Amino acid sequence: CEYCEEIIMRVELVSVGTELLLGDIVNTNTAYLSKELAALGFGVFRQTTVGDNRERLLKTLESAFLENDTVIITGGLGPTDDDITKECAAEYFGREFYFHEYSWVKILERLTRSGRNIITENNKKQAMIPEGAIVLENYCGTAPGIIIEENNKRIILLPGPPREMRDMFEKSVKPYLEKFSSKQFISKYVRFYGIGESLLETKIKDIMDNQTNPTLALYAKTGEVLLRITVSGNDRAECEDLIRKQLDEIEKRVGEYIYLVGDEDISSTQTEMNTVVANLLIENKFTISIAESLTGGKISSMLVEKSGISEALLEGVVCYSNKSKIDTLGVREETLEKFGAVSEEVAKEMVLGVAKRLGADFAVATTGIAGPNSDGSGKPVGLVYIGIYAQGDISVKECLFTGDRELIRYRTSVEALEEVRRNILKKL
Ligand code: ATP
Repeated sequence: CEYCEEIIMRVELVSVGTELLLGDIVNTNTAYLSKELAALGFGVFRQTTVGDNRERLLKTLESAFLENDTVIITGGLGPTDDDITKECAAEYFGREFYFHEYSWVKILERLTRSGRNIITENNKKQAMIPEGAIVLENYCGTAPGIIIEENNKRIILLPGPPREMRDMFEKSVKPYLEKFSSKQFISKYVRFYGIGESLLETKIKDIMDNQTNPTLALYAKTGEVLLRITVSGNDRAECEDLIRKQLDEIEKRVGEYIYLVGDEDISSTQTEMNTVVANLLIENKFTISIAESLTGGKISSMLVEKSGISEALLEGVVCYSNKSKIDTLGVREETLEKFGAVSEEVAKEMVLGVAKRLGADFAVATTGIAGPNSDGSGKPVGLVYIGIYAQGDISVKECLFTGDRELIRYRTSVEALEEVRRNILKKL
């Protein structure tokens, strides 16, 4: 039939949950997915509903893959014993499980934020991932999604709660499936720094809500926000034109917070601030020196991830003790005594000291309290001073970060890089 001829992927949708079979809930997930898949040009050939039963789910998978190459399952990814979707999928493909650290950190963050201070052993089940699987971050709940691929077959596991399922489909599954579509899709990823997800959403909500091409999706990352703009069209030129127009509108509204527009994949959880700063330094033949107290070498290490940085990075000094601040950077003893190591004055002397040592064009210095304990001075955990030297001009930024030790050190490092970025741009 006409429907089948154009189909390049045969999909079976499987909904898991005894509540669905009993008619206690209406299967809105299947309706949503069928519509979305049709829009991508994929054929949904069968929709199946199965209870929370291991044997019947395994039989369903066997039968589904006899005729179709892609199975999308929703539901049964929860932490309890009757949630068996992941186990069945892993068994079908003969995969062992491993503990996925990143998912566990995200689950802990979410459970703590929602006020759950008792975390049980079975929560860990949600961080167990079948070997070789693609992990899809859950931005609305705890269970990560999973894709297992093998011999032109793929299974995609999504959480049952509709809000989580839709968000994951929009943010991760759609970009994954677009690669298989016969339509032309182009995505751009816009990275924002210095604006929260909710404020950004408010500023572009009308665009997000009212259009279908391009589509926009927001992803909250640690300390920054990422926006994906995706267009579909008949050819590349048409897509690029649509993307350009959309970007112009977004830049008009929130351009001051954009630090990168790129083509890269969103699966990277890392910031791209280090790439941007490294490129700015290298392209403009600027040099930089870094003095780090609480960040302990993190900023230097983030820059060193980028090849070619040897032309720009003169040195990174970890000056944790007062003695090192005095001997290596020339911070005055009186300044340390009068204001304390975590102070604007010390940050200023640190950055000037490190800039002068080798005559760098730019320099950055950090001093702060990473916690969990305060330094006894009465200053709060999370208080950070970032000193910036930009071709003779010195400034200090005071920040107060929340979170654990690791997060405060990470946030300080990215903020320091952002300050370097802004100062380089001012000098161009
Ligand atoms: P959880 O972590 O919440 O247990 P899960 O991935 O295990 O998530 P289920 O337990 O199967 O998902 O479903 C959770 C809830 O999501 C159900 O109680 C129901 O309200 C809703 N739900 C599940 N499947 C569907 C569906 N196909 N259509 C509509 N709602 C659904």
